[in-house]
Amino acid sequence: MRILHIRPADLNEALLFLNNGQETRKTEILHVILQRRSPAQSTEHSLLSQNSPIIVPDVRSITNQRYDQKLRETFNELLKRYRPDVIHIHVISGFSVLPILNTASNLNIHKVLTLYDYSFISPRKRRTNLATKTSLERKEYHRRIRYILNQSDAVVCTKPQQKELLERIHGPNSKIIPVHNGPTYQTILKKKTRSLFLKVGHICNSKCLYCVAGIANEPFIDLSLLKNKLEEVSPDYDRVVLTGGEPTMHPRFFELLYILFYLGLEIEIQSNIRIFSSQKIAARIKKFNPKITVCINSHKEDVFDLLADARGAFKQTVRGAINLRQEAIALETKIIMTRQNCDHLRDIISFIKDLGIKSVMLVFPTPMGLARDNFARINPRYEQIIPAIRQALQWGSQQGMHMLTENVPPCILGASYHSYDSQCEGMLDGIYMNISRGLYNCKTERKDIQKVKIPDCNSCRHFFACEGVYREYIKNFGGNEFVPVTV
Ligand code: SF4
Repeated sequence: MRILHIRPADLNEALLFLNNGQETRKTEILHVILQRRSPAQSTEHSLLSQNSPIIVPDVRSITNQRYDQKLRETFNELLKRYRPDVIHIHVISGFSVLPILNTASNLNIHKVLTLYDYSFISPRKRRTNLATKTSLERKEYHRRIRYILNQSDAVVCTKPQQKELLERIHGPNSKIIPVHNGPTYQTILKKKTRSLFLKVGHICNSKCLYCVAGIANEPFIDLSLLKNKLEEVSPDYDRVVLTGGEPTMHPRFFELLYILFYLGLEIEIQSNIRIFSSQKIAARIKKFNPKITVCINSHKEDVFDLLADARGAFKQTVRGAINLRQEAIALETKIIMTRQNCDHLRDIISFIKDLGIKSVMLVFPTPMGLARDNFARINPRYEQIIPAIRQALQWGSQQGMHMLTENVPPCILGASYHSYDSQCEGMLDGIYMNISRGLYNCKTERKDIQKVKIPDCNSCRHFFACEGVYREYIKNFGGNEFVPVTV
């Protein structure tokens, strides 16, 4: 475990409440010291040391948690360089906390704060409630503090009155804890990532034969409506997964990314990445540190374009992948296994590897939307392709690829391949948000509405973990292939 302690230079190290008792021999501790400067100076930050303590000089002095963009840029570089598991910010008045938290949240790093004064209750550090400020300034200040509380995993109060006053203003909050109950880093690290799947709209520049969304032509979501809704629900989530349609086609896509970033969410985008065939756009997305998942369904241009039902899709996606890799953006891939490509899984994985991508999920089609309309044309039977799936999993793993499956029930996959099942890892769990429909649990929806189990499933040892098989599949092919696992 690596912990990065961040403190202003005027907070003496001897005064720090460091949770020393919780740090094991396997813990690596690094210190970052923020040196202040007067508002008149305007030099850039530079990291003065590669080793601990890391000095960040010329940090702007502020008193009301106004946003310091320069600090965000510095911490984007610093946190990517040191990749801590937890950052622990030691807070006294005078520097901007939110840019550090935003960047850590965006990079999926846990965050602990210890408060040493009353700067979160009043910018003047007094135990008063901003009595001298106008109501607008007060509102804005409390909004920033609320964002800070939402994004922290724990806020440790060194004085009992801090907790009482903070909760009086912002409501009861189990994350605000007195110093003697200080958080264990191990407990924080065990926290499960909570995902929000956000459907941005149905519009897309491809018309993939296996598309689950279909051609509903639902307009893109209204950003002002969405912003209010996200402010309300985002404290309950750590990660947002943008889906569609094609999220990058939203006319205010980058504005949406800014909103998600400032709310402190890690950003994942399910995209066909055709838009990133423009180097300029690929470079623009870098600052949000997104993880992008793309379907690469063939190494052959004609098959790829046929499955995407869009001429030129192959060339644009491949160029997009190259551009994104050049910008060091994390890319993961899916191969939707259809009649058209299931004999070439190994070649496709090899092609993906050559693009510099290390993660492949083999996905059996979900027969909804266009995939249901095209069922007879694209959907293979499990029994036809399971030998190819097993071979591909083995070969891909030998090549150092991270291999997973989706929508392949354990009884089909076989015991030796069970560890590849993303469903058992809970990777597909989360809450969907659709502006017209609100929030709904995607796992429950799949299990209770879209999928079904055959009567024999009752005797299967995977009965509770397995989601079952899509109704449409059983309707077309019956359930004979699914033999309960009893040993
Ligand atoms: S519960 Fe049914 S579908 Fe799932 S693994 Fe067992 S037999 Fe297969």
